[in-house]
Amino acid sequence: MIRTVLVANRGEIAIRIFHTLREMGIRTVAVYTEPDAHSLHVRSADAAHPVESYLDAKGIIAAAKATEADAIHPGYGFLSENPVLSSGCEASKIRFIGPRTDTIRRMGNKLESKRLMREAGVPVVPTWDGEPPESEFPVLVKAVGGGGGKGMRLVESPKDLADAMAAASREAGKAFGNDRVFAEKYIQSPRHVEFQIFGDTHGNFTHIFERECSIQRRHQKIIEETPSAAVTPELRTRMGNAAVAAARAVGYVNAGTVEFIVAPDGQFYFLEMNTRLQVEHPVTEMTTGLDLVREQVRVADGHPLSFRQDDLRQNGHALECRIYAEVPEEDFRPDIGRIAVFVPPKGPGIRLDSGVQPGSEISVHYDPMLAKLVVWASTRDAAIERMQRALSDFVLLGIRHNVEFLRRVIASDDFRAGEIDTHFLEKHSELLKQPSDDIPVAALLAASLTPSKTASVWSTSAASAGFQDVWASGPWRNS
Ligand code: ADP
Repeated sequence: MIRTVLVANRGEIAIRIFHTLREMGIRTVAVYTEPDAHSLHVRSADAAHPVESYLDAKGIIAAAKATEADAIHPGYGFLSENPVLSSGCEASKIRFIGPRTDTIRRMGNKLESKRLMREAGVPVVPTWDGEPPESEFPVLVKAVGGGGGKGMRLVESPKDLADAMAAASREAGKAFGNDRVFAEKYIQSPRHVEFQIFGDTHGNFTHIFERECSIQRRHQKIIEETPSAAVTPELRTRMGNAAVAAARAVGYVNAGTVEFIVAPDGQFYFLEMNTRLQVEHPVTEMTTGLDLVREQVRVADGHPLSFRQDDLRQNGHALECRIYAEVPEEDFRPDIGRIAVFVPPKGPGIRLDSGVQPGSEISVHYDPMLAKLVVWASTRDAAIERMQRALSDFVLLGIRHNVEFLRRVIASDDFRAGEIDTHFLEKHSELLKQPSDDIPVAALLAASLTPSKTASVWSTSAASAGFQDVWASGPWRNS
């Protein structure tokens, strides 16, 4: 029986996993690197152990042994999709809360996973190991071992292919230690629609419906929702069946995600399988009432899934916005600094998964995602209204962030109409500009209360550090 779980991760996802573990009566262990010694996730666990790096599988397994953890949850990112951690766990008799090592290995290869899915009868986007026929251009060049949108290149014409492949190969070699690249049919104006899947060690496979993640910047998701406005009940059945066939084809155990892109004509294609808990899993939880982490732990402990396909229903609508320390108005450059004020929105139907608090230092070392704001309401329109309200109530000072930008996206006519695809932000460049009359009250307050000489009210660290003192003692702090 699993009694102690080490979470091999940091930030919001470590804290989110600890929440469920504590509800299950399981002892929690955090690991931390030197820059994270004072992070919130370290203080949220029953025990904490230092590691050199979140990418050091040996160090993490040693930490699990030192703290008598009998299982490791990898979260997402870092080692979650690296077979080195899962196989190291097997060798050390520590449960890995995720799929089997061979599944991780096979699905970590974009060509191998597509080959397997094609064999299983899942529609797959056409790929070429060598040069695609001229009629198939434009194509995307991708790294076989790629991830995080890195190493992808759009190639419009055959004459540019060789150069693009060489450049992508160099980049992939550096980033992923595997320089193999391939070409893939480029689907015009697609939507990104993925299915949550779950398998157990008793041969049960289910899907837990879709998530639409078409609002992206640099091929990375920033807003996710479920249900998808593009998925009819009939398409949901077909895509859900394909997702379950994908799970069955690899004997999938634990939580995973089958990513598809959907062309404007409704044809869908398998893109890849993510062998871990997804950043955007809360929207699935909000609409189904499931706790996916609890289910992960139970499955890792050898229990059958607590639900069958027919037990599952989608209830209402959920939206997630990823709150980043970044400047959308300046090509989404990440920002660093100290969070001075952090007052998240409250109210019915709101969930905040966050790894920061006032005083948290946002550094260059890690991903600049600060929190995930998730709302639920009975309909898509109501969820949009709630998200707009929640974003305008969010007070976050000391660092530049994307909250206002997200609000502009959510409020835009095309988003409200569900007219979205993965090029949404390129098509709506007006949303990338800061309207002059759109400066939130909190930022104005900050500017008026600080003696800072900076011209911008946009929370330079100095300006809002001054503001923090005033804020903390002011009568408005509970507003
Ligand atoms: P990564 O593993 O690096 O995240 P993915 O293959 O999952 O890469 O693709 C990330 C995003 O890139 C997708 O959500 C989609 O927006 C875009 N994309 C990927 N493949 C294609 C394609 N064949 N045609 C059009 N867009 C694509």
